[in-house]
Amino acid sequence: MTSRLPDLPIPGQGDLPDYEVRLPMHLRPDANRLIRYLHELPYRRVKFCPWCSNTNLTCQTHPARRLPYYYCGSCQKGCNSLSDTPFANLRRMELWSTFALYLLAGWSSVQIAPRLGMNHKVYFSWGKATREVMAEECPELYQWWTTRHYRENLQAPEHIAAQQQAVMAWIDTMLNARHAICPKCKGDRTYRITGIRPKFKCDPCVTCFSILSGTPLEGMIRPDLWLDFVKGVMNGQSIPDLKRSSGLGMGASTRWRRQFLLLIEALGHAELLGWITWMRSRRNNEAVSFVRQGGHLDKAQRSIYPQGRRKGGFVWRQ
Ligand SMILES: [Zn+2]
Ligand SMILES: [Zn+2]
Repeated sequence: MTSRLPDLPIPGQGDLPDYEVRLPMHLRPDANRLIRYLHELPYRRVKFCPWCSNTNLTCQTHPARRLPYYYCGSCQKGCNSLSDTPFANLRRMELWSTFALYLLAGWSSVQIAPRLGMNHKVYFSWGKATREVMAEECPELYQWWTTRHYRENLQAPEHIAAQQQAVMAWIDTMLNARHAICPKCKGDRTYRITGIRPKFKCDPCVTCFSILSGTPLEGMIRPDLWLDFVKGVMNGQSIPDLKRSSGLGMGASTRWRRQFLLLIEALGHAELLGWITWMRSRRNNEAVSFVRQGGHLDKAQRSIYPQGRRKGGFVWRQ
């Protein structure tokens, strides 16, 4: 019977996502156990009757049946390895472990369903069964994963939280820099020009420069809003959310989000980007249930900050 068991899906191999990097260190063995459990579930040997717990079982294999059939001599009922499990009536058993792997990696239904060739009804019933098994077999993992998946708790695992801190610290250090090396003469006789933007002037060669030149934050206005904004980006907020909390316009919020994602990428925090994708994909769900429960999300309006006239704009002369 073991010869029929397909290979266990390995995270990060082939085109499978590496779900382990989204999870805290201490829950990774649990996640691996869950994947293995789902993988072996259809092929396990039935030792007890699921209906009467008796061991009086006779096994019959039949080519028309996908799994060996057991007949209980005590209660005269039939069963197989899936009887009385959440997966009893589900098909394509060879994909269940792969499905759970995508789910733990934080993929959304829109990504998983086409990848595994399933419709959304099947996605829903598989998701329900997987969550039931997870709650039963790995309660701690279940608790951690569901609170993130339903955005009840946005606390990232330690290694990703460290990357979030690093991004904030990088921005903070840049904005508060007191010293800089002149890009033109490479000298350090520079002083900071008063203001919130980290601009410097070099004495010997009379050059003004910003230490943000060449970074994704070059030319972005209102540095006082950056830290709160990037916090929202890292929690997976949508552009309307970011707009509401920052007071910027839609266009600026869209551009800012893109620039901060570029910054996170440039700083080399790939795991954090994956986390943002997961949290972002769950945000619509959260917003929809909030509104269904009678919540109100105010509509996107224009920026609350005074707008300068665009350069080169057409001015009507009387
Ligand atoms: Zn029985
Ligand atoms: Zn210089």
